[in-house]
Amino acid sequence: MIACEKCNSVMEQRNVTPCALCGAKESEIKKFLNDELRFRRVSVLGERIVLCVSCTSKIMSYHPESLGIPGGSMEDIVEIGDEVTAKRKQEIIDFVCGKCIETRAWQKTRQKIRDKSHG
Ligand SMILES: [Zn+2]
Ligand SMILES: [Zn+2]
Repeated sequence: MIACEKCNSVMEQRNVTPCALCGAKESEIKKFLNDELRFRRVSVLGERIVLCVSCTSKIMSYHPESLGIPGGSMEDIVEIGDEVTAKRKQEIIDFVCGKCIETRAWQKTRQKIRDKSHG
């Protein structure tokens, strides 16, 4: 059993999109299946993730503190890389918290970012 690190609910396996941030949202999964989303490789404090284009802009508006990074600005922490060119849609399954609508992939990444910034 995998528990959500935020609310401790049991996480269930679900279809997700490649986006670490919004990949668990039903509306995004629909768009993904309709080929309406584009994704970029992004590195946050050296942790590589994939984000959809709108989350790529969204993460730049975050306060570093919300990711456990003391001070600085997101421009110093985030590197935006190439577009992900997925030739065909593949099914991606991850553990999702139905309450927080967060994927296990993102929770793990956030934990690593926190560990790094306090290491
Ligand atoms: Zn949760
Ligand atoms: Zn997204």
